[in-house]
Amino acid sequence: MDFGFTEEQLQIKKAVREFALREIAPYVAAYDQEERFPVEIVRKAAAQGYMGGVVPVEYGGAGLDYVTYTLIIEEISRVCQIVGCALSFPSGLAGSAILRYGTEEQKQKYLKPLAQGEAFASVALTEPGSGTDVAAMRTTCRRDGNVYVLNGAKAWISFLDVCDWVLTFATLDRSLGHKGICAFIVERGTPGMTFRPYAHKLGFKPLCTGEVVFEDCRVPVENRIGEEGEGFRVAMCAVENGRLGVAARAVGMAQACLDEVLAYARERVVFGQPIGKFQLVQSKITDMVVGIESARYLTYRLAWLKDQGVQDVRREASIAKMVATDVALMAATHAVQIFGAYGCSAEYPVSRYYRDAKVFQIVEGVNELHRVLIAEYTLGYR
Ligand SMILES: Cc1cc2nc3c(=O)[nH]c(=O)nc-3n(C[C@H](O)[C@H](O)[C@H](O)COP(=O)(O)OP(=O)(O)OC[C@H]3O[C@@H](n4cnc5c(N)ncnc54)[C@H](O)[C@@H]3O)c2cc1C
Repeated sequence: MDFGFTEEQLQIKKAVREFALREIAPYVAAYDQEERFPVEIVRKAAAQGYMGGVVPVEYGGAGLDYVTYTLIIEEISRVCQIVGCALSFPSGLAGSAILRYGTEEQKQKYLKPLAQGEAFASVALTEPGSGTDVAAMRTTCRRDGNVYVLNGAKAWISFLDVCDWVLTFATLDRSLGHKGICAFIVERGTPGMTFRPYAHKLGFKPLCTGEVVFEDCRVPVENRIGEEGEGFRVAMCAVENGRLGVAARAVGMAQACLDEVLAYARERVVFGQPIGKFQLVQSKITDMVVGIESARYLTYRLAWLKDQGVQDVRREASIAKMVATDVALMAATHAVQIFGAYGCSAEYPVSRYYRDAKVFQIVEGVNELHRVLIAEYTLGYR
């Protein structure tokens, strides 16, 4: 068992840390408050090769191993997990399904610009009436010659302000359950597809999130990803690969909470001593350190298993996602408490971490779902 990193991985981690401190840290509080996606920062990161991730070089990616990719997403997210989210998209939620199920033409047309930071994508799976229960979706597709006609609505879809295309899902026949689902890429500007962004939300504020409505939206047959009826698998491929990115983002953000707390606990004096001297504060710091280390190694292990070519890592993905996001919320909660009233102000980033950490427990599978899945895999029910 080798817990070390290669020299190259350590150099990349250091370079990413320096990039994040220089190019993201001075601006993150402002764009979070403005609820503005920092497209210029993401493009700079892409120019450094941080967006290409595990996508093969022939499709515009960096061709990295999963451990190095995880280190990049973690270090970026230690400063801003929203930039981490954007950088994880080509390897995770948006790109992985195209890499696995897309045709050569689809990979060149859609995956390549995404991996190079020249295009952005949305993944529209959740609906107003169904989130966790994906197969209960109501958006329909009907074949009409060389096109499919989509009708329905998706909810809580991110990147609506910048996306060039939307990976979405619709059913041919609801009675077929998950076997009736098809996946499509719908290009921005396609008649019949409209976006309705929400005004404000608890966390993830720089992401423009809202509804995607399809009204007799005609999508060319060549934009179907995978075969007819294979859309559920495409969706599961997307979310399962997305979970590594979410875990890495959550670990990075939990570490940021600890970084803030260590500095503050040493300098804030109460009852004549730094608060770091109080054992109840130390207890919180210990919870954070142990939680972060556990989450980090579960996340790296998931990445390492993928690097070994292990095909079925669904159980490990659920474990990493659930633990890392639960730890992120615990770390952010402790951080706000240790900062006292200052933890509630925008002057320090811990209030942002607290808001974002709650959302982490909901996206890419609510943690209750992962709790059930982990038991079912272990019991052999799946
Ligand atoms: C900021 C933000 C960004 C998002 N971006 C996207 C995006 O880009 N694309 C996209 O498709 N979606 C996106 N989502 C949606 C997100 O993926 C869904 O909210 C999530 O999957 C949960 O679905 P739901 O909200 O419909 O909750 P529901 O499925 O209605 O679940 C509600 C609650 O019921 C309980 N529950 C549900 N299932 C189970 C179970 N099996 N066992 C036990 N308890 C259960 C849990 O407490 C759960 O929180 C985003 C959400 C947010 C908040």
